[in-house]
Amino acid sequence: MDMWNRRGFLGGLAAATVSGTAWAGPRPVVRRDFVLCLDAGHGGDNDGCRSRDGVLEKNVTLQTVLALQAAVLERLPHVQVVLTRDSDKSCTLADRVAFANGAKADAFLSIHTNASESRAQHGFETYVLDARASSLEAARTARRENDEGLAEPGTARAGAEVDTMLRQLEMAQQRVSAGRLAKAIQGHQQHAFPDRLDRGVRQAPFDVLMGARMPAVLFESGFLDHAEEGALLMSDAGMTRVVSSLTDAVVDFYRLQARTGS
Ligand SMILES: [Zn+2]
Repeated sequence: MDMWNRRGFLGGLAAATVSGTAWAGPRPVVRRDFVLCLDAGHGGDNDGCRSRDGVLEKNVTLQTVLALQAAVLERLPHVQVVLTRDSDKSCTLADRVAFANGAKADAFLSIHTNASESRAQHGFETYVLDARASSLEAARTARRENDEGLAEPGTARAGAEVDTMLRQLEMAQQRVSAGRLAKAIQGHQQHAFPDRLDRGVRQAPFDVLMGARMPAVLFESGFLDHAEEGALLMSDAGMTRVVSSLTDAVVDFYRLQARTGS
């Protein structure tokens, strides 16, 4: 986020210099670089869950992600949207996180559909990494990075402690931002689907959210194996509404990040 702030700040400075005029009135929202990583759950030989008539989660998530990429780019053409997969291919959870980190994404959004044993559950929910997993992951990442470093004997332990602390602070900040994105997603879905169950923002130690060095959330758009909800999610109208509400949430989050820089 630091880099991102700096780029934004310098960008604003350059614009002011070029125009040669002082800012007057309210400051416009400055355009900034922003990379959104979208992750279509499952894929390849991992089907995910399935609807009552055999539609596979991996195909619904891919369709959602492709439509969402197009919709976000239409609203925010200067944002870069990268996909962990854009076809029906296998992809490990670690690969997905590594890809998002490598792309230096500013936000990570993993898309899934749900299923329940009773086939009776329904509703949409968004997950953020829980605090305990977040803290453990921070310690693990810091330790790994420290082990890979060339710390002098005797300084390694102190270095590891500092790194762990810094990484924990970083992840705490990411969780705050992830919470904002999750809240925006739930809010817009609730607005678009007032008759469906809002299961809220939840916390879980999802592997695909661990190790992500940016705000990361996992959205469960609904229960594919629920008779009515499944049919809605697979319909063109339902898919369009899910995607346009997700787009609204991404735009909200982007604007908030651009304003607060955190
Ligand atoms: Zn899934």
